[in-house]
Amino acid sequence: ALGGLAKSACTAIVESAPKPCCLAPGVEIAPLPGRGRSLLVSLRGEARLSGLKRGSQVLREYPLASVPLTGGGSSLHPETALALRLWSGAAELRHAAADLLDHGGRDASSRLRRAVVAVMFVMASSEGVYEAGAESVTRSESLFCWLGRVRVNSVAVTSLSEQSEGNELEVAKVALALYPELAKSVNHSCRPNCLLRFDPEDGLALELLVSAPGGVPPGEEITISYGPTAASLPRQERRAALLAQYGFECGCPACAILDEDFSWRSKAAALDERAKVAAGRGSWREAATASSAALALLRQGFAEGDLELAREECKLAGILLQAGDAARARTLWASAAAALAPLAPRGDPDLEEAQEMLKRLPEPKLDSKEPAGPKSQGTVPFAAAASHGDVGQALNCLRAVLEASSASAFISKDAQETTVSDSFDGVVLGLEGLNLTPAERERVMQAAQGTSPKCERTANARVARGKT
Ligand SMILES: [Zn+2]
Repeated sequence: ALGGLAKSACTAIVESAPKPCCLAPGVEIAPLPGRGRSLLVSLRGEARLSGLKRGSQVLREYPLASVPLTGGGSSLHPETALALRLWSGAAELRHAAADLLDHGGRDASSRLRRAVVAVMFVMASSEGVYEAGAESVTRSESLFCWLGRVRVNSVAVTSLSEQSEGNELEVAKVALALYPELAKSVNHSCRPNCLLRFDPEDGLALELLVSAPGGVPPGEEITISYGPTAASLPRQERRAALLAQYGFECGCPACAILDEDFSWRSKAAALDERAKVAAGRGSWREAATASSAALALLRQGFAEGDLELAREECKLAGILLQAGDAARARTLWASAAAALAPLAPRGDPDLEEAQEMLKRLPEPKLDSKEPAGPKSQGTVPFAAAASHGDVGQALNCLRAVLEASSASAFISKDAQETTVSDSFDGVVLGLEGLNLTPAERERVMQAAQGTSPKCERTANARVARGKT
């Protein structure tokens, strides 16, 4: 059976001569201290003056070899199938990838598995009797190296699709492929300045695009993420993952921050869940509050202009529209469309929706200035508060705002009407941790819902303020 698998994997080669890779003018390949061969924005030529803008194409390349990950064709592990293709491929193919790193990372169990797979396939593919001679050993070693090369150099080709349930986008891995120039020259950073975009309809063509909001200045290295980023995994975990699969200790600027605060991510996830529940029962305003707070937290972790942030903006815009706040929804869709347009893959559902909504929603009038989306300013929004300290901080902010607004109400020339109310909409965070007696708890809940006599009076009081 193994012999059959090996044969079909080896004979299914369709790739002919490797297609040439296209490097943009303004970038060059040069060794960097401690980084090896690297891709840089050139200090010569046109790029010397301006660097590369966000959305610029740095490199375009077709895979040397690939295996599909959808359709459930082969029962081989995709990495094994890809390595077999290269191992048994044309000399030209092998030559183009021969100088790639082949150590396969530092994961010992994966190393052992590769050794066993290499020996088994050499045994299975040698028709007749397997001889444990020098030739078989050399062939096994060669396949072992290809398995290691694929392990550290192959890339999952992804495509975006909308999930049938909910409004979530799904990133599907459609193929495993080897792009030699990318593998040779582009290093990892946990806060990369570039990203990969694939075109599954054009022979899995890969584009390396500048994603940093300010572009990449001359002389700076071009980086991508090999998988984990500073926004997707805490420092220790992402470094362990990089060491296991790629065999290096990440020395990027994000990893230099030892006391990294990653709590924003779980807080944002909890708020997002709350928004989902609220949206599920049609409480759109509550959903919008929770989702706004989640977005404010995500801005702490993601770099400005990150596509993930833009996708979150799209989600919140949809909720805001349901909640009746079309103006804010439009602002968010405009910001998301600007971030997505230069980088999103063809037919990106979020970008298409944002552009469609911008056409449909009226443009805001110039005199009604819409406040910009929630930006974190070192203060935790009330709904995102997770500790008593946070609640206290949020309350202080609220008091300052109220004091400022009542002060301005007194000096205002026009009569103003202000409604003062105790009632509020939401969950009392941290109530569980206060160890209240049942009677105390009852009083707090009544106060929160505005049902105690005192609160009722305040809630109904309408205070008219005129000239003073
Ligand atoms: Zn790092």
